[in-house]
Amino acid sequence: MKLWEENIRRVVPYVPGDQPKGERLIKLNTNENPYPPAPGVARALAEMDTAQLRKYPDPGAFQLVRALAKRYGVGEDQVFVGVGSDDVLAMAFLTFFNSDKPVLFPDVTYSFYPVWASLFGIPYETPALDEDFFVRTGDYKKENGGVIFPNPNAPTGLYMPLDQVEEILRANRDVVVIVDEAYIDFAGPSALELISTYENLLVVQTFSKSRSMAGLRIGFAVGSPALIKALSDVKYSYNSYTMNLPSIVMGVEAVKDEAYFCETTKKIVATRERAKARLRELGFRFPDSRANFIFASHRWAPAQQLFEALKNEQIYVRYFHAPRLESSLRISIGTDEEMDALFHFLEEYLKGK
Ligand SMILES: *Cc1c(COP(=O)(O)O)cnc(C)c1O
Repeated sequence: MKLWEENIRRVVPYVPGDQPKGERLIKLNTNENPYPPAPGVARALAEMDTAQLRKYPDPGAFQLVRALAKRYGVGEDQVFVGVGSDDVLAMAFLTFFNSDKPVLFPDVTYSFYPVWASLFGIPYETPALDEDFFVRTGDYKKENGGVIFPNPNAPTGLYMPLDQVEEILRANRDVVVIVDEAYIDFAGPSALELISTYENLLVVQTFSKSRSMAGLRIGFAVGSPALIKALSDVKYSYNSYTMNLPSIVMGVEAVKDEAYFCETTKKIVATRERAKARLRELGFRFPDSRANFIFASHRWAPAQQLFEALKNEQIYVRYFHAPRLESSLRISIGTDEEMDALFHFLEEYLKGK
């Protein structure tokens, strides 16, 4: 090794799902929304005054902060926006997990958490989910440097009822607790209800899934003004212009269209429930997902073989080579037509085995 190489930071990076290109492929591997963004988003893009692009964007993305504060019934000083919730979460790790004690998150969860913890030198522990992939709330009642978990969890899709979220909050008054609600709009009540009671609770959401805008990179956090101020201070010490103008403008349009948002999320939930019934008939089992994906294992067909067979057919799902995960496939919920194509293939494939 050359001497200069010894001082290079080495990390094991997060590996995103494939973004294959092609016309006929069916993409059910990265939990994107199969429907386009709200019609107002296309209009805003068409009408965009591109002369504005010569200027730096508003560093606080205030238009978007204001739209979100109004939509969620909180103060403008309680909202922080970032370039996807990945950016918001990375900033939150850097800002709030600054203790010598370990941060706690489940062993099976969003695989970016251990990557950020390692990158920022944050100690962490990963309490194991139970055999059915449920979080054991009791594991979060010991001394720690902070807590983070997604609700619904990924890749299981399991939703934790708010009384259990609150149980974790009550046991952790002295650290910051982050609830990553990337999939909450497909699930049930949000922990946003609890932010006025718990000053140390940060709720993080994204436009990538329920608002069909993964390509624009918009995420946000809601919490007490003290948390939001701390987060903004760290962000401004790092990069003062994170969100670009088109994203701010189109994000505002998406937030305004409540009717379209409800319609598309309802459609996805209906397709998900139909998919559960079909998958069960085909011999799959899975945790009862409340997200826009299903984490399913087949009674006898190995997951990796299914994954390869589907890929040959241009149907992309997600397969994780990891302990406790390698017998399952994570299947994102597409349109009804896309799901029918998947079921049709699975039926034929399993029949032939
Ligand atoms: C998709 C996802 C995110 C990140 O989404 P962004 O596209 O960066 O907003 C964060 N957490 C979980 C659990 C996710 O599944």
